[in-house]
Amino acid sequence: MSASALSDHVRVLLASGHVQVVIGYAVGSEPSRRRPAFIRSPEQAGVLVFDEHCRQNLATYLLKPEVRALGKAAVVARSATLRTILLYAVERQLADGLVLALVPTDSGVVELATFAAIEERLATQPRGLPADELAEIRRIAELPLAERWAFWQAEMSRCIKCYACRSACPLCYCSRCITEMNQPQWIPVESDPLGNLDWNIVRAMHLAGRCVDCGSCSDACPQHIRLDLLNRVLADEARTHFGAEPGYSLRKDYALAAFKPDDKEDFIK
Ligand code: SF4
Ligand code: SF4
Repeated sequence: MSASALSDHVRVLLASGHVQVVIGYAVGSEPSRRRPAFIRSPEQAGVLVFDEHCRQNLATYLLKPEVRALGKAAVVARSATLRTILLYAVERQLADGLVLALVPTDSGVVELATFAAIEERLATQPRGLPADELAEIRRIAELPLAERWAFWQAEMSRCIKCYACRSACPLCYCSRCITEMNQPQWIPVESDPLGNLDWNIVRAMHLAGRCVDCGSCSDACPQHIRLDLLNRVLADEARTHFGAEPGYSLRKDYALAAFKPDDKEDFIK
């Protein structure tokens, strides 16, 4: 859809007082870069754009106290954004009706005002990974163990512990992160091979069965570490072994926070 159609829609929305802030995308520091824009008056709506460069998952701002303080929010939403909102609902981070999702389409902006409306829309979307991404994770999975270990060690060794991945991820929302604990110091502050591995594995495990594959973490990583690949490997495992499809429904079916009495492993009983 054209940027002007989105801007017009947002102007009317803000003028009506139905929402107090619209979180969308504007052109960033380079023509192909996008930045989040927090539009609070109809006059500001002209900066909004929506195109293939608008990749960041804007749901990440919905839980920020500074944004909540602005009043009711609308957010320009891709599929991953909608899935994040449903996960926030399942994880009791967001109440129904507090956020309006705006989905730009060829025929205009679709407004989704409730969790049920989001769930209904997502039910029509394709699921699972595209064939090329699936082939890539299968290729890594089939490497001999030593080669697979060397691959991931080489990736993690480049980490500089900047935590941009954590800041960008809408599902890394703990108010106190394990990286900030120093009694005991679970994760070393400095960048070193073992500590880098600790950090990236802890983070990946916390996202396993929850990640919505938005790509915001890998886009934010200045070291171009294949976080996207790591997330997809774990998502594929969670899907294959636990049937996890995070963010598509309001069911509380987080794969790693539930157990079945008939689980095949004894230790869990
Ligand atoms: S781990 Fe990365 S891809 Fe997954 S939800 Fe967080 S930012 Fe998005
Ligand atoms: S963004 Fe990249 S370099 Fe920074 S902490 Fe995350 S994985 Fe490490």
